[in-house]
Amino acid sequence: MKVESIWFHDLSLEERQFLESPGDAVLPRTTDVLIIGAGLVGLFTAWCLRQRFEGSICVLDSHGISHGASGHNTGGLFAGQTSHTHPQVFRDWALESRELYGSLATSGGPLADPGIDFVRSGSLRIDGKWPGRLPEYSDSETQRGNKSEALSQAALSDFEPLLSSRFSEGFYCNDDATFHPLRTALALARDLRRDDVSLITHTPVSDFTISSGHLEAINCGGSTVSAGTFVLTTGWAAGEMSSRLGFSLPLGPVKGQAIATTPREFTMRTCLLGATMVRQLKDGRIVAGGTQEFVGPDLQATDDGRRQVLRDAAEMVPDLNDAPLDRTWVGLRPHTPDGMPVVDRFPGSDNVFLAAGHFTKGVLLAPVTGQAIADWLIAGSATRDLQHLSAARFANPAA
Ligand SMILES: Cc1cc2nc3c(=O)[nH]c(=O)nc-3n(C[C@H](O)[C@H](O)[C@H](O)COP(=O)(O)OP(=O)(O)OC[C@H]3O[C@@H](n4cnc5c(N)ncnc54)[C@H](O)[C@@H]3O)c2cc1C
Repeated sequence: MKVESIWFHDLSLEERQFLESPGDAVLPRTTDVLIIGAGLVGLFTAWCLRQRFEGSICVLDSHGISHGASGHNTGGLFAGQTSHTHPQVFRDWALESRELYGSLATSGGPLADPGIDFVRSGSLRIDGKWPGRLPEYSDSETQRGNKSEALSQAALSDFEPLLSSRFSEGFYCNDDATFHPLRTALALARDLRRDDVSLITHTPVSDFTISSGHLEAINCGGSTVSAGTFVLTTGWAAGEMSSRLGFSLPLGPVKGQAIATTPREFTMRTCLLGATMVRQLKDGRIVAGGTQEFVGPDLQATDDGRRQVLRDAAEMVPDLNDAPLDRTWVGLRPHTPDGMPVVDRFPGSDNVFLAAGHFTKGVLLAPVTGQAIADWLIAGSATRDLQHLSAARFANPAA
């Protein structure tokens, strides 16, 4: 059993080498904007900024490009399936972000060639996690712009014949999509290199130089980089980093184990969301996952983890019983108590921004997050309603 994300396995040697070491950029001593963390949130932030900002930008990572959660997820852009408990403005963000992917990935868009496998696969939720009666929920979702259908049990079996008959209702979002997260990282990184953005890998930030609340520089190994503005896009590690900057945030890792089977002969019509997520790639492999384990930054794949994912998947699609597994992998989702990220200027700082904590929706929300931070840096103040994503919401739980 190989323990490696399916997304890395799909790339050529040259592509993998590029993600490990993208070009010949050397660590600058100073830069206008330093983005720490080259997951999809960091890359989209740099990319959106580059479209309108002529100063110098550097993106720094302790590992290769998108070797964190952004390279170890299951590639769902299920914007129609955000939790009804989240604020409307946040749920609208998800729809906007999915459509941004759509326009960047289709002809003429910067992610169109060689492509990021963007497919309007739809998504079908069958775990009953919607409020009240499904037809009414579906109507109200459609009215707010989330085109959806309420499927009865009879409709479910027509719609996805592979689905177990034990499910009685389903919430279907036709416009939801899937994509290849690492091809996206690769396309963004290549574009950034062409546009003179420094991409520095295998360089962990270990310390900060702060003077009167102003972050002057970061230290990595024996080197120091000063910057006018710093953006922390370090995923789950942003919690620990924030405390070193003097602000305590409840932001940490949630382990997720995922699996891929060998190619199956059947064809699923859509992606299923229940006790786990099940989707099929165009070559027939099934991807499922992931677990949600609150066990700290543990990257170990376990027999129990992959058995649980396969069992959950087979309860939804019985044809997956005993399906041979090709590989398994582990990612660490950045988690906050309300399941939403922090997208904010650092409390008490004039030049440090934070965009982390997207939990189960980080690859989906990366483009719109990058746009929000880029707009803020260019305009000098937030141009969107980001109140619900403030760092301060964790400083005063009663607020
Ligand atoms: C199994 C699984 C399935 C998932 N499925 C989906 C899905 O279908 N759809 C979806 O939208 N989301 C999904 N997610 C969640 C998604 O992967 C994350 O929310 C998202 O990747 C977070 O992106 P990020 O850029 O914030 O963090 P990351 O991708 O983790 O990037 C953070 C980067 O910061 C770097 N870093 C950390 N510390 C330092 C340091 N000290 N110095 C320098 N660099 C540092 C890391 O090396 C890393 O590259 C899934 C996650 C898992 C684990």
